Amino acid sequence: MIYLDCAATTSVCESAREAAARSMESGWGNPSAVYSLGASAHKALERDRETVRSAFGAGASDGRVIFTSSGTEADVTAILGAATAKSRNRGARVLTTDSEHPAVARSMDRLEALGYEVIRIPTKNGAIDSEALWAAATDRVIFASFMTANNETGALYDIAAACRAVKSAAPGAIVHTDAVQAFLKCDISPKKSGVDMISVSAHKVHAPKGTGALWVRESVITKKELAPYLVGGGQESGMRSGTENTAGIAAFAAAVAEGSAKAGERRAAVAELTAYALGEIAARLPEARVNRPAAALAGIVSVTLPDIRSETALNFLSARDIFVSAGSACSARSGKASGVLVAFGLTEREADQTIRVSFDHTNTRGDIDALCDALAEAIATLQRVRR
Ligand code: PLP
Repeated sequence: MIYLDCAATTSVCESAREAAARSMESGWGNPSAVYSLGASAHKALERDRETVRSAFGAGASDGRVIFTSSGTEADVTAILGAATAKSRNRGARVLTTDSEHPAVARSMDRLEALGYEVIRIPTKNGAIDSEALWAAATDRVIFASFMTANNETGALYDIAAACRAVKSAAPGAIVHTDAVQAFLKCDISPKKSGVDMISVSAHKVHAPKGTGALWVRESVITKKELAPYLVGGGQESGMRSGTENTAGIAAFAAAVAEGSAKAGERRAAVAELTAYALGEIAARLPEARVNRPAAALAGIVSVTLPDIRSETALNFLSARDIFVSAGSACSARSGKASGVLVAFGLTEREADQTIRVSFDHTNTRGDIDALCDALAEAIATLQRVRR
């Protein structure tokens, strides 16, 4: 099997598997319970929280980590929670981009239905349109959400500049970023960007599915600028009720500890592999077009094939045990052309002919070679059945 879909999910690393097993074997108490079994689960949970928190590159007094069930839940908690925290916010202006993951995009649709004025800033060629952003950033803005790295093109948005634009017009506005694809792969420090909330997800960093985290600036909590989306027993500082997934969190923390310790070498390896992939695609597949933004995350490469539907290409590759995706995995089953790729500047037809190749430190040059061999064969043989 050649797995080139790391932006969709990743394999579970050994340290994460071991941490989950340990938690399930001996650390299975309810962390909210007061007796010793609960107290030790609570201690482990707080230790894991500290491990994940320290990967955000901010001090302990700057903000805290709220564990959620997924990156999606972190996004929804941040967006619906912050925009609706104060009743005076209703009807106010909210900013986002036109290429967010559905977790953010659908939350924004919800705000719009509730009467908020949502402005989606264009991201043609993978960059936030700064003129449109500065025009939209007025003192009416109460909240903004701009993703750090795009899951379909790898585009890295200038979050620090976007945050500055919003806060210079509306100093009290809260800014969130979805860093699900960027976490551990590039610097997402809120100290550098100025954002107030950051969403991440465990299964993108070699931990199991079912856990995510939202980093929240301390002042947002103390000023009650975030209302809980999930209410109940008051776990997670009252910001996300529900008994914590302690085994999943233990695995998440183990994967984060390993990923943080090896970040330098992993980033260098993935940057090298990305350069290799871009070179090989250009040399061996001249009919294909790479949709590469000027600033892009290593490890995500969007390729438009010449007149071959992505679904056809995916099946062709899958028959050879090579796994890539068409657009993002979350929207791949909807059968609709990716709005993100259209926002990037592709036509609907081109978007429908685009595959996403995504890889990380677990991949090799041999994987890229096998992909290029198979794509060259696909381009040669599928020409006869082009639509
Ligand atoms: N945000 C981005 C940018 C993503 O790529 C994804 C998943 O692909 C999510 C959010 C959702 O994360 P999860 O799968 O943990 O719900």
